[in-house]
Amino acid sequence: MAASARDVPQATGEQGAFRDKLVAEGLLVPSRVPGVTGQGPVFVDLRQRLDARISKLVADEGAIAMEFPPVEPRHDMESVDYLSSFPQLAGSVFAFLGDEAEALELGEQAHAHQDWSGHLQSAGLVMVPAACHPVYPALARQPVPADGITIDTGAAWVFRHEPSDDPCRLVAFHMRELVRAGSPESVGAWRDTWRDRALAFLQSLGLPAAFDEANDPFFGRTGKVLARSQRAQKLKFEVLVPVGGDNPTAVASFNAHSDHFASVFGLVSEAGPVHTACLGFGIERCVLALLFTHGTDVGGWPSDVLAELSL
Ligand code: ATP
Ligand code: ZN
Repeated sequence: MAASARDVPQATGEQGAFRDKLVAEGLLVPSRVPGVTGQGPVFVDLRQRLDARISKLVADEGAIAMEFPPVEPRHDMESVDYLSSFPQLAGSVFAFLGDEAEALELGEQAHAHQDWSGHLQSAGLVMVPAACHPVYPALARQPVPADGITIDTGAAWVFRHEPSDDPCRLVAFHMRELVRAGSPESVGAWRDTWRDRALAFLQSLGLPAAFDEANDPFFGRTGKVLARSQRAQKLKFEVLVPVGGDNPTAVASFNAHSDHFASVFGLVSEAGPVHTACLGFGIERCVLALLFTHGTDVGGWPSDVLAELSL
């Protein structure tokens, strides 16, 4: 059955009260679609300060900055089998390629808020679902250096179709990722180091952050098997912080991909086989965790947290 508005998870209790407070105080600006949420000036300022603080945190990594648009070639998403694992999250771009008569019909239907999707055709593009995705084909353009390479995507807009009333579960949000490519041993060590550094960093912001093993929301019955195998191999870790829901919320994730992306895109190195891993900060979730933990009166936050964020 197709998803409908009735399927949208509702924020109740403490989580709902938190969401309502953020909206009432102008931190968040809701739209008519759940999860498509604007941000007021205080929220934007916090997001930018957090991003700048992350830049300081990663400064000694020697990461290479690379930015990509929020859309990517459909072919790349197909190649990594995203549509087999997460068809429910993917967003696809369709465009109008018809003639004048069809344009007239499209315009009339759209004006009446009827379904005009039948007039569209694939534009060959999809919405980027994770900031690291465009990095792998880019890395394949030249050999990976023998001692590995780290890319910093900056805070990139990403899209996942998981509409929800939960202020932490957005349809479009900023994800900042560090992507590491190199030898299997060095990539494994890199991920463990960054897991500890990221946890300590989030705790230094006064957040009651804890770390746990995790799995991705793979689709369907086969997905359950994939999720179990991902956990058994300890391929995914998350840093979790309570943000009002029944369970703590993942504000940062660490993924080991083994040679998945390397083999799909043909990453090579003179040093031997290439593995990849990524560390992703959910920037909005980090800001929401700060607001939930320290309150919406930012001036009243602990002085060390204010100092960390240059406030
Ligand atoms: P979750 O299990 O909560 O759905 P995930 O494991 O799918 O998250 P990742 O794919 O690892 O998340 O994404 C990296 C980070 O992006 C997460 O740690 C989280 O902070 C953030 N994130 C993921 N999904 C959302 C969302 N719908 N809204 C806001 N932030 C998100
Ligand atoms: Zn990633």
